[in-house]
Order: sequence, then C-alpha cells, then structure tokens
Amino acid sequence: MSVPFPEILGHEYVREGLWRSIHEGRLHHALLIQGLSGVGKRTLAETLGRTLLCDAPDQGPCEECSHCRRTSLHIHPDLVIIGRDDILGIDEELMAHRDERVRKGKEPVGSPIDVDFMRKLGGWLTQRPWEARRRLAIVVDAERMNVQAANAFLKSLEEPAPGAVVLLTSSAPTFLRPTIRSRCASVRLLGVPQGLIEAHLIKNGVGATEARVRAQASGGSLARALQTRPPLYDLRDQLLRRFGGGKDAEVAAYVASSMAASADVDRHEALHLFATLLRDIAVLQSGGSSDLLVHVEVSDAVVRAAAGDVDALALFSKVIEARERVAGNANRASLWDDLLHDAGSGG
Ligand SMILES: [Zn+2]
Repeated sequence: MSVPFPEILGHEYVREGLWRSIHEGRLHHALLIQGLSGVGKRTLAETLGRTLLCDAPDQGPCEECSHCRRTSLHIHPDLVIIGRDDILGIDEELMAHRDERVRKGKEPVGSPIDVDFMRKLGGWLTQRPWEARRRLAIVVDAERMNVQAANAFLKSLEEPAPGAVVLLTSSAPTFLRPTIRSRCASVRLLGVPQGLIEAHLIKNGVGATEARVRAQASGGSLARALQTRPPLYDLRDQLLRRFGGGKDAEVAAYVASSMAASADVDRHEALHLFATLLRDIAVLQSGGSSDLLVHVEVSDAVVRAAAGDVDALALFSKVIEARERVAGNANRASLWDDLLHDAGSGG
C-alpha cells in the first residue's frame, strides 16, 4: 500500500494519520503543524488544503478536478494562504485590504500579521463557500500574530463555521498565544531522514557526493538541502588550500578570521563543514582509504591536505567541543576566540 500524499517527502506516520482522519471525516477544524524550519510544514498544509477542497480526493488531491487545478495555482475562491511574504487568494475584499496595505507601504507581510486582516479573515471563514464544500485558510508562521491579531482570530478557532478549516504552521509554537495553541490539534513534523533527502537530491540531478554532503548538513530540512550554497563550497576550497600548508594554530586563525569576515555563511554550518573536512583528513592520516571520505568530490585536495603538518585529529576534537558549546548556547561571538585559543595552546 502506498503512503498517502506521495508528493511529500518523509513524515509517513503523520501522512497516514491525517489521511485516515480526512477519510473518516473526523479531521479537526484547526490544525497547528509544527516542526523545524524547512521540514515541509507549508507543503503539508497546502497539500492537505488542496485535498480538503478536492472533489475526488484519493490519498491526496486528485489533481484533475476544477478545484485541484485552481488550488494549485492559488486562484481558488475558497482558499486563502497567508504566506511569509505574500497573501494568496482571490477574494476581492481580502485582497483589497492587502493591496491597501501594500499601497501604504506596510507590506510585505513577513513581519507581524495585521490584526485587521485577521479580523477580516475570520469573517471570511464564516461565509458560505463559493464553490467547494468548505472555506479554508492557511496561516504560515502563525507566531507572527501578535496578541491583538491572535485575539481577533480566536473566535474562528473557537466557534468555527460549518466545514471551515484553518491550518496554522509554526517553527516557533511557544511564541503562539496559549489560547490559540489550545484550540488546535497539533501535528508535529520531525526531521526528514538523511537517506530520503539524499535520494531526493540525486533524483533532482544533484551529484551523488554533493547530495550526501548536503543531506548530512541539512539537519533533516529538505528546504535547506535544496538550497545551493556556493559560499560554503568556496570556503571549503579555501580551507583545503590552508590545510595543505599551515600549522594548526595558523589554520585555526585563518578559519576564525574567514568566519568573522563572511557574513553570508551560517556559522553553524561552517563549523560543521570544518569538522567534516578535518574528519576526512584525520581518516587519511590514520591510514584510512579515500573511499571513506565525506568530501569525495574534492578527494585530491583532501589527500594533499592530509600530507601536510596539520594534526587533524586534535583540531577535530576541538571543533567538536566548540560545536557542543554552540549547541549549549554559548556566546557565538566568543566561539572563534575559544577555538583560536585552544588551537594555539594545544596545537
Ligand atoms: Zn481534485
């Protein structure tokens, strides 16, 4: 038996449970889909939404009925999506309100969700659907509702109009008002397994080794794995050149200064990259084969670096310690200083 909602990667148990609820007609009228950023919350919300408006859903939207054709284009009269940077829908009153805000320079909506808009949306949800069996609203990053907006919207969750469904997503649900949270059924998305992400990237034309590195660095976030990250790959090339020649302390100093200088590289990911490179060099220095490398596609440069003076294993341990300090919420600014100091004193 295939898993419902096949266009979604991972989250099999959640998909099965949701489909069963829809099939048995007992889906809660308000869902809070929570999970880390990039894990697929909006995709799930939109797929669920399309299924709920579809004429003949079978394990997901049929993709053929007139509802499906329009929901996929975001031009269905009974669907409104408050996205991170956009409001999608064709209801004249709601869109007029959005356009008014754009005119006043209050958009994009990325920041707080407007109390007036949420009040209007609540009213819209109580009206009879134009064409589908129900009206449906998706609010992405629902924690953007401030107290007033949340209060204005609360009634829609407390006393929903017949058939109306609200799907909220949030990667920071603790910032949602408790009154909102308590009126929603919770759907939790965990990370997508690395193997699935890797296979998905390969299917989408990414080379096998790069797919592995990106899947490993993704932390279970498909969105993050799908982003190409040239700055990180540039940094890798620079690091490998340094590893070839320098002493440990010089290498660490170089890494620290390049981290500090490059604003477009996420520090955490850079640290991860640094750790996996050192790990590869340590593998070679301890006699391991180059088949074992994570960074296989630059194996020549890794081999050259391993032939140099860097004590990769010692540096690796220090990087891992530093990474744990980051995970323990240590002050990020001091991280590189610590690393420098450690490398200087021990290396
Ligand atoms: Zn359909």
